[in-house]
Amino acid sequence: MTSKIKLAVFDMDGTIIDGRLIDALSTKFGLYDQIKQIQADSSILGYIKTQKIASLLKGLDEKEIVLALESIPIMNNYQNAISVLKENGYKIGIITDSYSIAAKTLANNYGLDFFTANDLIVNDGLVTGEVCMPLGWDKINCFCKNSVCKRYHLETHAKKYGIDIKDTVAIGDTRGDLCMVTHAGIGIAFMPKDDYINKCKNIIYRPNLSDIFYFIQ
Ligand SMILES: [Zn+2]
Repeated sequence: MTSKIKLAVFDMDGTIIDGRLIDALSTKFGLYDQIKQIQADSSILGYIKTQKIASLLKGLDEKEIVLALESIPIMNNYQNAISVLKENGYKIGIITDSYSIAAKTLANNYGLDFFTANDLIVNDGLVTGEVCMPLGWDKINCFCKNSVCKRYHLETHAKKYGIDIKDTVAIGDTRGDLCMVTHAGIGIAFMPKDDYINKCKNIIYRPNLSDIFYFIQ
């Protein structure tokens, strides 16, 4: 790899892990239908959906979040992709609209440099139903209106490390990743789950994170 691109950001659900944390949690606690209904309602803005879903998790033991995360397989060749990026001097992080307890676990387990995620408020070990959201679209007028504007946080981390936005890679699989993937120097749609696929030049169709190196050269 000879590129000078030096920052790589991964989405979590469906990208680093081969599944979705909220699906594992909602199946285990009988919330699947309620949560799917919120997710499918196109009249609700992204960050409001995050608040509504968090309120359904009220009373959950925070340990259940890590247990749910551990029940989901890591994506094929994630470890390999991280190792190659590290060898090439990349700063590597996770930007996800899932929960910080999960993102932090993955960041620690793989020696990543940073993560940005939604913070579920916990009191005495139990989820209160409130969520602290990083937002960011309000600052840059991003179309996404999500609880985590991935473009804003991509820019923020790049700036923190003194890396030009042209020199970043972003990898994600859903509409929630669109503002980041279309703004990064190299945006990669990984196993795309919805119709934003048409807006991405670089697409990986099989569950193998080593394939990112077809685009990062
Ligand atoms: Zn955004």
